[in-house]
Amino acid sequence: MDNFIISIGCFLVFVLVFKSLLFLYQVLRTRKQQKALLKADMPYIDKMDGRQFEIYLQVLFRHLGYHPEVTKQSGDFGADLIMERDEKIVVQAKRYGYKNRVSLSAVQEVYGAKAYYRANQAWVVTNSYFTKQAKELAAACGVKLVEREDLQELICAINPTFEAKEIYENVTPEARKCPTCGKQLVVHQEKEGRFFGCSSFPSCRHTEKINK
Ligand SMILES: [Zn+2]
Repeated sequence: MDNFIISIGCFLVFVLVFKSLLFLYQVLRTRKQQKALLKADMPYIDKMDGRQFEIYLQVLFRHLGYHPEVTKQSGDFGADLIMERDEKIVVQAKRYGYKNRVSLSAVQEVYGAKAYYRANQAWVVTNSYFTKQAKELAAACGVKLVEREDLQELICAINPTFEAKEIYENVTPEARKCPTCGKQLVVHQEKEGRFFGCSSFPSCRHTEKINK
């Protein structure tokens, strides 16, 4: 009888240890996946131009269960995305070098867009950070600010994908003119990445980054 009780006890301990190890394994695996995702996505987001970032956010928010649409490039009244889940949300997207903080005007514009589109919520989403003034105004008029770490959390909430890389490499950035000669700039693909070069090359040798 004693042996039987000892056997049951051993079995229960074994199950408990096994379950704990399994749980630990799952936690570690999730963390590893999230790290891999951030490693994969944020550097590409930082390299995007504004248009590519809008498209990336559209994909991200679609994964998160919103139904986003990118607004027309001109006359968007301060909204880059309009999306609907339980409520209508207008979003302004700001892809900045993360040493440049997003200023007050982004909050003012998206607040205007909220009224224009009769939305319930207004958000500004950036891969960077906000100025103190922008935060103060946003708090006063109920605009939601999503900064770099919040964006990373949203990315972590979806399964690892490499859409940032795909979007950066395949979506054509917004057209721009050469600041040297005024001709159209064209996208070049090199092993090191994509960049803009002047269409009048070789008479003009101007180049610039996609995320300039
Ligand atoms: Zn040029």
